[in-house]
Amino acid sequence: MKILILNCGSSSIKYQLIDMPQGEVLAKGGVERIGESEGILKHKTAKGQKVLNEVYPTHADGLKRVFELLCDNDPLKDVSEIGAVGHRVVHGGEALTKTCLVNQEIIDAIDAVYPLDPLHVPAHVLGLNVAKDLLPGVPNVAVFDTSFHQTIPEHAYLYAIPYSLYTEDHIRRYGAHGTSHMYVANRMAKLLNKPIADLNIISCLLGNGSSITAVKGGKSIDTSMGLTPLEGLVMGTRCGDIDPAVLTYLGRTKNMNADELDDLINKKSGLLGLSGISNDCRVLEDLVAEGDQAATRAMNVFNYRIVKYIGAYAMVLGHVDAIVFTAGIGENSPYVRGEVCQKLELLGVDIDMEANDCHGKERKLSTDKSKVEVWVIPTNEELAIAQQTYELVK
Ligand code: ADP
Repeated sequence: MKILILNCGSSSIKYQLIDMPQGEVLAKGGVERIGESEGILKHKTAKGQKVLNEVYPTHADGLKRVFELLCDNDPLKDVSEIGAVGHRVVHGGEALTKTCLVNQEIIDAIDAVYPLDPLHVPAHVLGLNVAKDLLPGVPNVAVFDTSFHQTIPEHAYLYAIPYSLYTEDHIRRYGAHGTSHMYVANRMAKLLNKPIADLNIISCLLGNGSSITAVKGGKSIDTSMGLTPLEGLVMGTRCGDIDPAVLTYLGRTKNMNADELDDLINKKSGLLGLSGISNDCRVLEDLVAEGDQAATRAMNVFNYRIVKYIGAYAMVLGHVDAIVFTAGIGENSPYVRGEVCQKLELLGVDIDMEANDCHGKERKLSTDKSKVEVWVIPTNEELAIAQQTYELVK
């Protein structure tokens, strides 16, 4: 069955066409700058890549063009060959806890999550409606980044603020990146050749957005992101954990309003804010090697925060069988992995520095004497969405 995976952002659509159950990627690409004066569409198949510079006034225009390219005899002849569409949905709130077939009721429920995720919800709803209109009769499946974290217990998801803010306003920790954390945890179990039910895994997803999850017996029991994808680790431009009083202090002393504060902690903080140079880990790593103080300061805070979370999650899990590194930085940065793993002596972590010198491929980093297995496992969110979509509609 050919499954189209859609990831709709505010001005972009990323897509992959995956043949299931083999998991073969038949085409992938993305439309960017939807609604702007010039858009860009990149489309790649086994036969090569096309890049189009056109105007895409709406998501529907962009998606129509994607269908034209997909059906240009490579890889499809007709859209009727698409068996299902799997949609990545960032936030399911409290009501949408599981991967589900989309109908109007589900679209309305996703729409209702808007106050919790104003950035993504409108784009997701657009994507769902456009796919429904352009592919009548084809099942649409919504896969929520937050679903995997629905197993987190109350004592870990509640904030210590008046309880009514949870019951009435749904303010709690939801987590994010769940599809990826679930994918790498399952992959880890396969590689260790053990049932996931018997394993305790710490999954470190380190990219421009970063999060870390404690997975016990295949279930998320705690994760670093919270109500929004801002809490937790230091990220490219997001601050992660911060004393909330910093915000009230800035509001009072610098007269900053909610939007300005939002901008500060989401777009001007993290590696970018600390270094004053870049949000890109590659750039900072090169500067660290040259002895640059600002880059070193930023990376030290970044690495330290990861160690702190691994320590906390080791306690929460009781014992740790495996630590997994994934996403842009996790898969590609021997420097970050090395700095973090060096500090995990108490857990009995011992990594082979030669094995650690790898980029973007599945690899065991720990030595045989390490008490915890340490691995790099590239994430594949699209494949995970395709698997869940296939399971639901096959
Ligand atoms: P997101 O999906 O959250 O936007 P990614 O998972 O693509 O982010 O990760 C982007 C990050 O990965 C950037 O900080 C980038 O510098 C980092 N990265 C990519 N390749 C390397 C590399 N070879 N060494 C270090 N960092 C890398």
